[in-house]
Amino acid sequence: MNFQLTDEQQLIRKNMREFADQYVEPIAAELDENSRFPAELFRKLGEGGWMGMPIPVEYGGAGTDYLTHILAVEELSRSCSSTGFTVASHVIVALLVLLYGTEEQKRKYLVPLAEGKHMSAFSLTEPGAGTDVMAVTSTAMLDGDDYVLNGTKTFITNGPVAETHFVVCWTDRAAGRKGMSIFIIPRGNPGIRPGKHFEKMGVRSSQTSEVVLKDCRVPRENMIGQAGQALPMSMAIFEQGRIGIAAQSVGILQAALDESIRYAKERVQFGAPIARHQAIAWMISNMTTDLSAARWLTYHAAFLRDQKQPFGKEASMAKLFASEAAMRHTVKAVQIQGGYGYCKGAKVERLMRDAKITEIYEGTSEAMRMVISGNLLR
Ligand SMILES: Cc1cc2nc3c(=O)[nH]c(=O)nc-3n(C[C@H](O)[C@H](O)[C@H](O)COP(=O)(O)OP(=O)(O)OC[C@H]3O[C@@H](n4cnc5c(N)ncnc54)[C@H](O)[C@@H]3O)c2cc1C
Repeated sequence: MNFQLTDEQQLIRKNMREFADQYVEPIAAELDENSRFPAELFRKLGEGGWMGMPIPVEYGGAGTDYLTHILAVEELSRSCSSTGFTVASHVIVALLVLLYGTEEQKRKYLVPLAEGKHMSAFSLTEPGAGTDVMAVTSTAMLDGDDYVLNGTKTFITNGPVAETHFVVCWTDRAAGRKGMSIFIIPRGNPGIRPGKHFEKMGVRSSQTSEVVLKDCRVPRENMIGQAGQALPMSMAIFEQGRIGIAAQSVGILQAALDESIRYAKERVQFGAPIARHQAIAWMISNMTTDLSAARWLTYHAAFLRDQKQPFGKEASMAKLFASEAAMRHTVKAVQIQGGYGYCKGAKVERLMRDAKITEIYEGTSEAMRMVISGNLLR
């Protein structure tokens, strides 16, 4: 058993730390304040190879394993979890094309995604279909050599900024779980547009909107993978995505710990730094212990994925534990900073707001418990 990251993984992690310190940390508070999508930052991340790390070099990626990509997401999220999340969610869509796309689709769509020249959006959720994906109502009807898509998707990450959309629709309702398919829709198609834009509590620079399909016509060859396979393909992608959200949570937790230690040593009350008060010291002990557990659960899930072993349960366990730990301890991090932690401008206040969403997207904590128990009890 070896708990040591390779020299290459350590180097890439250090490179991302330096990148985040230089380009992300200085603008993170402003991105949050203005809900601003930093297009220029994603261009720079693309140039550095960070937007397609686990994608093979021949398709525009960096050709690393998934664990190395996860280390980068963690370091980015330590500075700005919106940015870490945007990279993580973009990469799983690129992986969808890598795993299920035709050679032509890979050349046409995957390469610009992996190079960070195009942003992606994956649309499954609808107003009436969240955890219950079978409640989707969007349809794709065959008309000659085209499919015509109609419906409204909601809460779509990158909805307003994506150049390449991936959308789940019914192609055969009668086929039940084998009745939905995924379609690629490039921006510029007159049948797709972003709808309502959501102002959020956290991860505010990540852009979230409805995606509206109105008689959206796409050629047959824009279906990705086989007809009727949307659910297994989506689940395969979400399993990888859950490791990304776990890494985002670990980054948030590490930042909360850094901030808590710094503040507890600086702030003096009753003639001593508050770090000397046992109540504060124990909060920090609990925080670092849960951080370590969350980090190893996350790395283990990524390791299993890289070893081509089953990792669905482990990915859900990592996401469940890391996201709930991030939420629990960012609340404590605010507590440690008292009134100062509660005010705008304190990093811990942003961390607390950002932590909440990790318990919700790519499967809620309740859904994670269903997956984990389902693995044990079936
Ligand atoms: C910022 C953000 C970004 C997102 N990005 C995307 C995206 O890019 N693409 C996309 O397709 N979707 C995206 N989503 C949607 C996200 O995946 C859903 O919000 C999530 O799956 C939960 O669905 P819901 O919000 O409809 O909640 P619901 O499914 O309505 O759940 C409400 C509550 O009920 C609980 N619940 C539901 N069913 C059960 C059950 N059977 N047993 C126990 N409890 C249950 C849930 O856990 C939750 O607590 C995003 C959401 C947000 C907020």
